[in-house]
Amino acid sequence: MSAFVVSAMLLCGCQNTEKTDMAESDTVKKASEKPITLSIYQIDMDAFDSEWPVFKQAEKWTNVGLEGVLAKSTTDADQSFNMMMASGDIADIVVNWKENFNKYGMQKAFIPLQDLIDKHAPNIKKYLEENPEARRFITARDNNIYYIPYVTDGKVQMTWFVRQDWLDKLGLEQPKTVDEYYNVLKAFKERDPNGNGIADEIPYFNRNVGANFEQSVTPLLMLWNAYSEIYINDSGEVCYGPLEPQFKEAVKNIAKWYKEGLIDEEIYTRSNARETLLSNNTGGSTHDWCGSTAAVNNIYKDKIPGFNFAVMAPPGGEEHSSRTQIGRNGWGIAASNKYPEETIKYFDFWFSPEGIRLANFGIEGEDYTMADGKAVFTDSVLNGEKDVVTHLREKGAQRTIGTRQLYEEYEVQWLDPIARDGAQMYLDNDYIKDRSFVGLPVSDEDAKAASAYYADLNTYVREQMQKWVLGAEDVDETYDDFISGLKQMKVDDYIALMKKSRENYISK
Ligand code: CA
Repeated sequence: MSAFVVSAMLLCGCQNTEKTDMAESDTVKKASEKPITLSIYQIDMDAFDSEWPVFKQAEKWTNVGLEGVLAKSTTDADQSFNMMMASGDIADIVVNWKENFNKYGMQKAFIPLQDLIDKHAPNIKKYLEENPEARRFITARDNNIYYIPYVTDGKVQMTWFVRQDWLDKLGLEQPKTVDEYYNVLKAFKERDPNGNGIADEIPYFNRNVGANFEQSVTPLLMLWNAYSEIYINDSGEVCYGPLEPQFKEAVKNIAKWYKEGLIDEEIYTRSNARETLLSNNTGGSTHDWCGSTAAVNNIYKDKIPGFNFAVMAPPGGEEHSSRTQIGRNGWGIAASNKYPEETIKYFDFWFSPEGIRLANFGIEGEDYTMADGKAVFTDSVLNGEKDVVTHLREKGAQRTIGTRQLYEEYEVQWLDPIARDGAQMYLDNDYIKDRSFVGLPVSDEDAKAASAYYADLNTYVREQMQKWVLGAEDVDETYDDFISGLKQMKVDDYIALMKKSRENYISK
């Protein structure tokens, strides 16, 4: 965006924001008696822009202005962060990740925040009191808190999708069990639902070619309640997925499905499968981000008559993906910052109702208006030239600073109804079972050992899974060897280490 557009937006926002100032001057407390300007290191996709209207508004209310330290052209977050830390010239406020805050905090580059929160940040204090899990999550090994997290609402992240118009055409219902899902994929393969007389349908595909949780065939593990990594079971025990019997059952079935042509032959290599296979009317079903996948309906409905890519309930009865509620990202205060008290008060503003509204919705009067106590986006945001997220981010809203994202009131306003209703269906039926592992290593040595084990085991499991799925090796014939391989790689030591880390976390 050009400087001209930014200043034009500021100008046209003047009247409205001044009105807001008067209305809310009583409720927002100044973070500093005198106006001050603090430097900030922040980059999420693009670097902090000192002209963002949202932060200008915050400055009016709090007396604290921010000046970005990165050039607008900066693109490499890791490199720019490492360079700053190595230089010793650290911005007053730093936006980054939990791991870095804890590491450099314990080296005294960032200050502990818990006492400052107690004394000067009533909104953050209240949030942490009401959410003890959040407090535990952001507490470092030395019991200090080095960052205020970006907290997201809304649990549903990914869902299953199926071509509803194909089901209708074949006289089939949405599958409710794994066997029914298998039968649907089989029917897609054999009964020509796209009607071109060729068996060109690709029943299951995934646009992500890697081997992580959300990629390639890995979501299919969920159908048998299997995991490919460490997780916490329903009794709270630390388990390693590939050692469990359901893992074997899952990979056996996935290999069978692949052999029968129910899974994209190019599942490990085809990038952009969602776009390619939906636009050419051959893709049948996937597991993917709910919002962006539901949005494909608008893209293809004119091109493909009847096109309907619908959210379906998880055929295995469970959904293992979940939005991380408490962010690994957030902001902290450099040891060299001369205004720690003012800074924590400024941070607290972003946890106040006014700050949260500003961070989520932008500028009142321009981007949203209040109706019945709720912020409602203006028509220029909802139906503007740019999509809602781009519009808001260019104003400085929806940035991953230490604040709270209000999913219910924010995303719901512009999400495609297919995504909105689909996400609601997942919530209403309690499908989401988040069993992801969270721990806190007791020492640096433990942390290093755990990541070394993780990397080795993970590579081994992924490679073996791929051999099985592609049919290079038979699951029954090689499964025992696989288990001995894990044991040789000291999987039991790894599990013991993770249990120790988990116990340490729970004890906080
Ligand atoms: Ca066909």
